[in-house]
Amino acid sequence: MRCVLIGLPGSGKGTQAAAIAKKFGIAHISTGDIMRAAMKSGSELGVRARKAVESGELVSDDIVIGLVDNRVREPDCRRGFVLDGFPRTAEQAVALRDARIRIDYVIELDVPERDVMERMSGRRVHSGSGRVYHVKFCPPRVPDTDDVTGEPLVQRADDREDVIRVRIGAYNARTLPIISNYVEWERSGDPAAPRFIKMDGRGSTAQVCERLFTVLSAVAA
Ligand code: AMP
Repeated sequence: MRCVLIGLPGSGKGTQAAAIAKKFGIAHISTGDIMRAAMKSGSELGVRARKAVESGELVSDDIVIGLVDNRVREPDCRRGFVLDGFPRTAEQAVALRDARIRIDYVIELDVPERDVMERMSGRRVHSGSGRVYHVKFCPPRVPDTDDVTGEPLVQRADDREDVIRVRIGAYNARTLPIISNYVEWERSGDPAAPRFIKMDGRGSTAQVCERLFTVLSAVAA
């Protein structure tokens, strides 16, 4: 299975992509995670991506396209993959199509803007382990403190409210239009076109996950 998850930042793409990857035994490719890991390691990619990531803008297409093109050819992608956060622009979608990287399903996780704002602005992480909390939905036992190590939690630079607004703006301007392109491509009857699935992304992680598995198991059967 090869699928793409599209949705606003904070719509749950990362969590659901990880669940899909585990259930179907396929690779999880998150371009956001790749950027963050590169920034942490101080690699050339990290240095080039940092400014855009921390301000909520998109990293340039040529950087991201080259990276994904290489990644999907790695051995762990032979059984399939779930792309989380790519494509995010019309250019990236065209590059995927031109590279003849066949995609079976494009899934849009639909969550209202006010919900993603609440989800993201309340998120806190423990940098050492990557453990994620939420001030309202999943609070640590002691405020702002990691349950396991007792170390302080931090807010990701791009989870600040002003940056979230920029990220939502980038999604509406650059990513939303590619959804209609996928819908039109499917309608054209081209056998290479992925199937487009719009999914209600509201509710708990478990509820959304169950919804997704039900649909994917049915269409992939
Ligand atoms: P995410 O965790 O998927 O929201 O990604 C975090 C940040 O990484 C984004 O706000 C962008 O700056 C950058 N990024 C991730 N994926 C892409 C992409 N496909 N194109 C451009 N920038 C990206």
